[in-house]
Amino acid sequence: MTQMDANQALAALLAGNRRYVAGQSAHPHQTSGWRAETARGQNPLATILTCSDSRVPPEIIFDCGLGDLFVVRVAGNVLDDVVLGSIEYAAEHLGVSLVLVLGHSHCGAVTAAVEGGHAHGHIGSLTERLRPAVERAATAGQDLVEAAVTANVALTVAELRAAEPILAELIAEHRLHVVGAHYDLDTGLVALLDV
Ligand SMILES: [Zn+2]
Repeated sequence: MTQMDANQALAALLAGNRRYVAGQSAHPHQTSGWRAETARGQNPLATILTCSDSRVPPEIIFDCGLGDLFVVRVAGNVLDDVVLGSIEYAAEHLGVSLVLVLGHSHCGAVTAAVEGGHAHGHIGSLTERLRPAVERAATAGQDLVEAAVTANVALTVAELRAAEPILAELIAEHRLHVVGAHYDLDTGLVALLDV
């Protein structure tokens, strides 16, 4: 497979999601032959940063298979240095031209951050990362959790676009695009966000 540019990659992702929503998933790239082929190297079409939520598996909701997606999943799709390092690796070493940050409806991590209070164990470091999104959402005047989900995607996209040295340089050279999107648990639909 040749390296896709970001627009082609995004179109392929959205086309896969529409197949999935319509109940017409093609389940591509899941044969033993393709497994053997991809064992020799990977050339994923996009990096997806999304939530660990069991209802948001990227390969299923974008109707993709082995070797198609470089996926980073963490509750609340929060960004830290380790997550950023993974995204940089895919951009620099695998030549991935698209990063899609995907939030979703009814996100438990974002709900916990909105509700506040004491988080047990290490969960607090997670909700702490979501605090700026919750603060931004508090002024949005709509459903607080949904507004915080969107704000979290917007803030994460902005952080990734500004991330020195690797991502910001690739973006300036038009070799990388970072976009934000929202997944609806009820309909299965992925909608791009204007962020
Ligand atoms: Zn979630």
